Amino acid sequence: ALAGNPNVGKSTLFNALTGLRQHTGNWPGKTVSTARGRCRHHGRDYVLVDLPGTYSLMARSAEEEVARDFFCFGGAEGAVVVCDATCLERNLNLALQVLELQSRTVVCVNLLDEAERKGIRVDLAELSRRLGVPVVGTSAGREEGLEELLDQVEGVLDGRESPKPLTVRYPPPVEFAVASLTPLLGRRLKDRLPARWTALRLLEGEESLLDALAAALNWDPRRDALVAAAVAEARTELA
Ligand code: GDP
Repeated sequence: ALAGNPNVGKSTLFNALTGLRQHTGNWPGKTVSTARGRCRHHGRDYVLVDLPGTYSLMARSAEEEVARDFFCFGGAEGAVVVCDATCLERNLNLALQVLELQSRTVVCVNLLDEAERKGIRVDLAELSRRLGVPVVGTSAGREEGLEELLDQVEGVLDGRESPKPLTVRYPPPVEFAVASLTPLLGRRLKDRLPARWTALRLLEGEESLLDALAAALNWDPRRDALVAAAVAEARTELA
C-alpha cells in the first residue's frame, strides 16, 4: 500500500513504479478511487495500491476512512509512506499512524531534489534510526531512488529487515487504559489487527470503525460482553 499526504508525489512514484500496468477502481461502497498497479523487482511481482492522499487515518473524511480500512482489512502485506522532504514534520503524523497499524513499512522521503534546491538536508539514517523502519530518499519526478526503495520493500517483506517501529506513547492514563484492554483484545484479534491500535480506537469509540470491524472480522466488540465491560470501565476511568 502506498500512503501519503496529498501532493507529496505519490502518484508520480506510483506511475514510475508501475508504468501502464495499472487500473483504477472504487473502494467498495465509497466513491473514493484507489489505483492498483503491478511492478517487478528482482524477479518478483508486487501489486501496489495507491491509496487516496490523506493527512491522517482518523476517518474524518471518506479518503481517510478508505486509507484506514485498507490498512485494517485490505490485506496489505506492507506499506510505503511517501513524505515530502521539504516539509517532513507535517508528514510524520501520517507515518506514525501507519506504523501503529503496519510494522512492515518503508518511509519514502520524496522530493529530495526540491529540498536540496531549498537548502534543506534530511538525515535519512537518523530518521530511520528514530522511526525504527527503513527510510529511503527519492526524487520520483526524476526516477531517482526507486531501485533502493524497492530493495527496502523487498527486505521488509521477506523478513531480511525486521522493523521495530517507534511506539507512540500517550499520556499515562491512556496508557493505563490501553494496558487493561490489550490482553483481552490480543486473544480475540490474534494477528488480524494490532491489539494496541484497536484498544486506542475502542477508547475513542469511533462507530464507523466498530461497524467495519464487526463486518470484516465477524466479531463486534460492542457485543462481546467482556470487552464491552472493560472498555466501559476504562472510559469511565479516563473521563
Ligand atoms: P500526489 O498528490 O502525492 O499524488 O502528488 P503528484 O504525484 O501529483 O505530484 C505533485 C507534484 O509534484 C507534481 O507537479 C509532480 O510533478 C511533482 N513531483 C513529484 N515528485 C517529484 C520529485 O521527486 N521532485 C520534484 N521536484 N517534483 C516532483
